[in-house]
Amino acid sequence: MFLKKKTYKSTKNYSGNTYLDKIEQLKNEIKTADAIVIGAGAGLSTAAGHSYSGERFEKYFSDFKENYGIQDMYSGGFYPFSSLEEYWGWWARHIYVNRYLNDSNGTYENLLDLVKGKDYFVLTTNVDHQFQKAGFDKKRIFYTQGDYGLWQCSKPCHNENYDNEQTVYKMLLSQGFLKEVNGKYVITDSSEWKIEIDSELIPRCPKCKSPMTMNLRCDDTFVQDEGWYAANHCYSDFIRRHENLHVLFLELGIGMNTPVIIKYPFWKMTYANKNAVYACLNYGEAYAPREIESRSICIDADIKKVFEELVK
Ligand SMILES: [Zn+2]
Repeated sequence: MFLKKKTYKSTKNYSGNTYLDKIEQLKNEIKTADAIVIGAGAGLSTAAGHSYSGERFEKYFSDFKENYGIQDMYSGGFYPFSSLEEYWGWWARHIYVNRYLNDSNGTYENLLDLVKGKDYFVLTTNVDHQFQKAGFDKKRIFYTQGDYGLWQCSKPCHNENYDNEQTVYKMLLSQGFLKEVNGKYVITDSSEWKIEIDSELIPRCPKCKSPMTMNLRCDDTFVQDEGWYAANHCYSDFIRRHENLHVLFLELGIGMNTPVIIKYPFWKMTYANKNAVYACLNYGEAYAPREIESRSICIDADIKKVFEELVK
């Protein structure tokens, strides 16, 4: 009965196993794969403790909630602030807590431990820079949707991005959100915070003087600079070099918001390469199409816990 259903001649059959079987299978795949392509989405950063709502939002944005009724960090990014001082007041803090603040719970570090020494590449829609912060090789990462650490011209009049770290810290000091204590920046009590930044800190394009904006893909003004094209090229090259080898497509926390960037291509490439294995780690939405089911390891669980099991 069972054999009749089987579509592939492969000796692998990963469907219908228990949680612990799957952990062992994934561990083995990571160990034996010729190459690992990591595809990461928002769910990975949520597992890493970077939730955009609830307690974490209240902790850093209580004044924005009170004054504007903003309920979480995601929607706050789209709020129509009436001045650039308020707009950058929001964004300085958003960039800081999600990009520069070190509050890792070890999830990205565990992932690095798992793939260290392997031939890997990271494709991600995340813009929070957590891969590099955890120590992943910058030449093996393609951030497709931008980076909180970069600004671009809002028009845009030219294709270049600018590092924002220094200006963001100045903004946070001017808001009273950070203060310097013994050469270190610390977050102050919320009673000392103000919403607006000083007007002279509003960033302007060095070429046309238009206001700068975040380098995030939300419409067709997104700037793809040289770094973006170079990373895109490295990714395509990595895929081409491992075309028919034993490749593990490791999909982490990808929802159905933008499946065309990672999820669907991973399915297609697994289908096309009979030596490939697809793994999907997702809390609530872990599944694979029937055509690749026998070569898929789908784990519906907290990614943080799964990594802790895998590094054991
Ligand atoms: Zn410009």
